[in-house]
Amino acid sequence: MPLIRRHGLSLVLFASSLLFFGYLGWERKETGFSELIPNGRSGEWYQGDTHCHTDHSDGGLQRFFPLLPADMMVKSQIRTALRRKLDFLMITDHRTLSHTYDPDFVRPEREILIIPSEEWGIDVHATVWGIQDEIENVANVEGSQWAVQLAHAQGGLIAMAHPARRRKSWFLRGKEHYKVEGMDAIEIWSGGWFGHFLSNNAEAVRFWEREFLNKGKKIVGIGASDSHVAQANVVGGVGYPTTVVFASGLTQGEILDGIRKGHVYVKSGRTPLALSFEADADGDGRYETLMGEEIQASPSIPIDFRIRLRRARGMKARLISQKGVLAAEKITHRDQILHFRLKPADSWYRIEVLRFGRITEALTNPIYIRRQN
Ligand SMILES: [Zn+2]
Ligand SMILES: [Zn+2]
Repeated sequence: MPLIRRHGLSLVLFASSLLFFGYLGWERKETGFSELIPNGRSGEWYQGDTHCHTDHSDGGLQRFFPLLPADMMVKSQIRTALRRKLDFLMITDHRTLSHTYDPDFVRPEREILIIPSEEWGIDVHATVWGIQDEIENVANVEGSQWAVQLAHAQGGLIAMAHPARRRKSWFLRGKEHYKVEGMDAIEIWSGGWFGHFLSNNAEAVRFWEREFLNKGKKIVGIGASDSHVAQANVVGGVGYPTTVVFASGLTQGEILDGIRKGHVYVKSGRTPLALSFEADADGDGRYETLMGEEIQASPSIPIDFRIRLRRARGMKARLISQKGVLAAEKITHRDQILHFRLKPADSWYRIEVLRFGRITEALTNPIYIRRQN
């Protein structure tokens, strides 16, 4: 198709979607909800961190200054997680599960679920959760594929770590580790404020969309602090960002199952925000579809998407599909529900919440659309 015709077509699509939104608008109202439990489901929203280190691998400042005493104990990471009110934590030391034999791992001082995990990999990294044995490290694409198989054979999940970090990219030309089949999740937000730049998270989100979502491959977007240094826990570290999971309970199986289903959003460690992103495809007002799930939809029948937000006044919510940002709305109340109805022309829809118009506060997993003709 000639370039000009292609552009002409997308201009028409853009203009028609503007008209559509202009007509229906965004509904806005003060709400009285105190919980964000999705309609008709039993469970809770649990928050945690999927990736951090201790001195069982390269955690601690002695990584840079070998004469310093070890200070990034399993205990330090668990204490920070408790201070941040996390419900679950994956400690993911490099290529080892030795931290799972640490007395503080076996007997944490208070109630928190710690899932046995490691960070696999040499030239690319992946976090592997809920395993009993370390995964063999082979530094080529076949090795990455083998790691996925070995993780699943143990009932675990595996996630691409910092996929767009320059030296550890899953997308390097000629290597293309991302082409492995069966990867469960991808870090779309790695590290706190500085990590945002180091890990190139904007690029990670673009990879997620381009290579997975736009190709109809479901892979769950997660967050990871990749905390290494105890001193950094004062301003960031464990829980920066936070991964929030809807699960039927706080056990290893239930949290991993919630992640597997994509009932997940990622939020900044410092934000008080909480949310739920759901859809009602059949117009009965029940909002039976939760983020991570799929709707069988006819492109001619509108779907009602709903975002319920708590403690989000002054922030901005954006609706995004493979066409880019479809709509944006300022959140004017502390607790608020935003609705948008649209004919599902795209194959996925997700929400981003921003502060000051551009600092990311939260990213949801998509609601997927399968065309029904
Ligand atoms: Zn790593
Ligand atoms: Zn790491």
